[in-house]
Amino acid sequence: MESTLKRTWSEIDLDALIHNYRTLRKRVGENVKFLGVVKADAYGHGAVEVSKTLEAEGADYLAVSSIDEAMELRVNDIKMPILILGHTPKEQVERLIDFNITQAITCKAKAVEYSEEAVRLGKVLKVHIKVDTGMSRLGFLVEDNHFDTGVAGIIEAINMPGLMAEGIFTHFAVSDEPGEECEAYTRHQFELFTRVISAVEDKSGKKFDLRHCANTGAVANYTEMSLDMVRPGLLLYGYGDFAKKLGLKPVMTLKTVVSTVKIYPAGTKISYGGIFETDRTTRIGVLPYGYADGFFRALSNNCELITPEGPARLRGKICMDMCMLDLTDKPGVDVGSEIEIWGKNNPIEKLAETAGTIPYELNCAVSKRVPRTYIKNGEVIGRELMLRM
Ligand SMILES: *Cc1c(COP(=O)(O)O)cnc(C)c1O
Repeated sequence: MESTLKRTWSEIDLDALIHNYRTLRKRVGENVKFLGVVKADAYGHGAVEVSKTLEAEGADYLAVSSIDEAMELRVNDIKMPILILGHTPKEQVERLIDFNITQAITCKAKAVEYSEEAVRLGKVLKVHIKVDTGMSRLGFLVEDNHFDTGVAGIIEAINMPGLMAEGIFTHFAVSDEPGEECEAYTRHQFELFTRVISAVEDKSGKKFDLRHCANTGAVANYTEMSLDMVRPGLLLYGYGDFAKKLGLKPVMTLKTVVSTVKIYPAGTKISYGGIFETDRTTRIGVLPYGYADGFFRALSNNCELITPEGPARLRGKICMDMCMLDLTDKPGVDVGSEIEIWGKNNPIEKLAETAGTIPYELNCAVSKRVPRTYIKNGEVIGRELMLRM
């Protein structure tokens, strides 16, 4: 669905995405494959357009978190291999196989279920084995006294009929955090992962084509851990300290407009709860951007947005559909002026920090009523609104 609405919208800079992809590609080298993580609608950037762009650039693999996300890509003609990182009910095995979608195997019980279902169908499901080396989430446990049973479980899984184990992977818990302790933890996870792979390959006589573990933190800090394929998400979209260090560019700019301007005398309480009271004659712009669009209410009365005349303070509580900006010292900013919520002039990292969270959460929170504009070669190539119309 196309939207021509100029209310609140995001601009997705596909040129920045291409720049980030090519920069990361060069960083990891030609012998390492590249999986782009496009789960959660490509971190709010639009999974279909992002995937099309990565496919055209020659990326090797995509990853999503569910079969619905994978099917969205297939329905939109994305042909690349897709790995589902999360849970898929066994009733969906036939669709996984028919649409050439790779499934993570997170424990022996899941391997048994998927194998039985694939055998019943007389088909083969492509899988990647997930190893839990210290994230303590999904994967075969292999730490300490779980090593032998973990290795045995993985060997059982890869030998099950109806399963074809193309890959094996693990996920780092603190590869993006500074300090010796985090570095030691990450190096231990990596060492354990490679030890598990050696043991499985030695004992089973089988080899994995795709061994992968490098998320954003590892691509930035530990290129020696690239193995056969890297698996970054956030870096592709250009956020965080590492992105800045590597010369990557933020892909999303979120914008809104001034819808109404009001002038209040000193002593006026603004918005729900009256937490902000004017101390002078105050010119307030109402913006059509609230928590239902993905604004974090925790930022109420506590952030700045960027007007054409520079930063302006947000005043009072953020509402469901609106918020209020202090334009007293911005006489040229009026109804219809564009406001940058985040982007090149207002780093998302700063807003995230003020809200006590990480950029990922702000990106993912941009809601479905916020249309996207896709930009390539500096020109608008598409608009998209996710409402049922
Ligand atoms: C989300 C995710 C990634 C990507 O993480 P980033 O920090 O965005 O690079 C990689 N691997 C797995 C298993 C994930 O769930």
